[in-house]
Amino acid sequence: MAYSPNSPEARDIAYHMHSYTDARRHEETGSIVLERGDGVHVVDIHGNRYIEAMAGLWSVALGFSEQRLADAAARQMAKLPFAHTFSYKSNGPVIDLAEKLIGLAPVPMSKVFFTNSGSEANDTILKLLWYRSNAMGQPQRKKIISRMRGYHGVTIASASLTGLVNNHRSFDLPIAGVLHTGSPHHWKDAGPDETEEAFATRRADELEAMILAEGPETIMAFIGEPVMGAGGVVVPPATYWEKIQAVLAKYDILLIADEVICGFGRTGNMFGSQTYDLRPDIMTMSKQLSSSYMPISAFMINEKVYEPIADESHKIGVLGHGFTAAGHPVAAAVALENLKIIEERDLVAHAREVGAHLLGRLKALESHSLIGEVRGVGLIAAVELVTDKAAKTALETPGALGGMVNTGMQTRGVITRNMLDAIAFCPPLIVSEKEVDQIVDTLEATLDDTAAKIG
Ligand code: PMP
Repeated sequence: MAYSPNSPEARDIAYHMHSYTDARRHEETGSIVLERGDGVHVVDIHGNRYIEAMAGLWSVALGFSEQRLADAAARQMAKLPFAHTFSYKSNGPVIDLAEKLIGLAPVPMSKVFFTNSGSEANDTILKLLWYRSNAMGQPQRKKIISRMRGYHGVTIASASLTGLVNNHRSFDLPIAGVLHTGSPHHWKDAGPDETEEAFATRRADELEAMILAEGPETIMAFIGEPVMGAGGVVVPPATYWEKIQAVLAKYDILLIADEVICGFGRTGNMFGSQTYDLRPDIMTMSKQLSSSYMPISAFMINEKVYEPIADESHKIGVLGHGFTAAGHPVAAAVALENLKIIEERDLVAHAREVGAHLLGRLKALESHSLIGEVRGVGLIAAVELVTDKAAKTALETPGALGGMVNTGMQTRGVITRNMLDAIAFCPPLIVSEKEVDQIVDTLEATLDDTAAKIG
């Protein structure tokens, strides 16, 4: 595409290397350059308006123009723009936020540790659990189990936890000690006549077999998203979490619930752990914590996790870990205001209601020739595209069909995201029923058009 030399697109190509992008393709096509936001909409520098049906990266709960968050940031900037949490220092907003999160926790939690991204949070969890195993005199207990299709971030440790090929290939990952068990995607991974319950039993049996093969005394923790996000919006099959948790309890393995996407209302409850009755020892949070207006992440740990870590730090004289910007007062002030608004406006109940409408409308499209599966819970959903419903296959190149539909949606003014041939829907929690209808109407038009194109 030819951009004039000084255009933002041309300068973006000249100077900016992007995340999650094919760099050579970016040199050719450039990017959509966004300028402003308004409710669930974003507007680019040419005035094109889009419904952001992915809430940015599953994260902008309150939409793109919440003045109260901007005001909260400005107030805190003017008062105390920076403070850290090293060496016995703290600040008001971070204390308030830690207390608030412990109060919201669906199971008894003891402490909150702050970080700046989901990846950093999960990376820190892994590191602190190694520290804890050493503190407990169990240096052999260092392995962690995650799942194929799981997403936990991109740092060396958290990318290792992630169970997606493109996060490992050419990066020399995963690191040793990170094991991947099977994904909970019934539609994709179950046998032809396997019920959800039978599939869940099989996954729990496979987990137990892995633990026994590795040696239960070497396994420290299991990490999972209550509902998988970036792996394709995978809703767990019936009885899955109950059976997985029974295995973990049997071998005294800690459960980490990665609530980075699910947290703060996405699944129709404050946490995904509530929707699926998880009883985690650790919970990772980010994204909707601040509606992503400021970078912030955190994790909560229970007493059982905290105590040995605290003892070890006392023995050594310091917990040798922490990030300069973690517990940032401006990010914490924005997160507090964000949580206040979610509660005041009862956006968790709203997500449940408007989410049921979204899922109902998508389910009504399930008979479309290009749809293989519709799945979702609360206000997060996906449609799996196929060209052959019985064989559950799409075009020859994985992701080609998904890419076509995703681009078609964008051309019609709706931003979605395709994870291979799954199109995800994760609009801001404030989305209205009418806006949901616009999103689904656009999908329907795009599917019809795509079906006609590919014959
Ligand atoms: N965990 C989950 C469940 C996520 O969805 C993500 C981001 N999509 C992360 C961790 C990593 O977060 P970040 O991109 O902030 O590092």
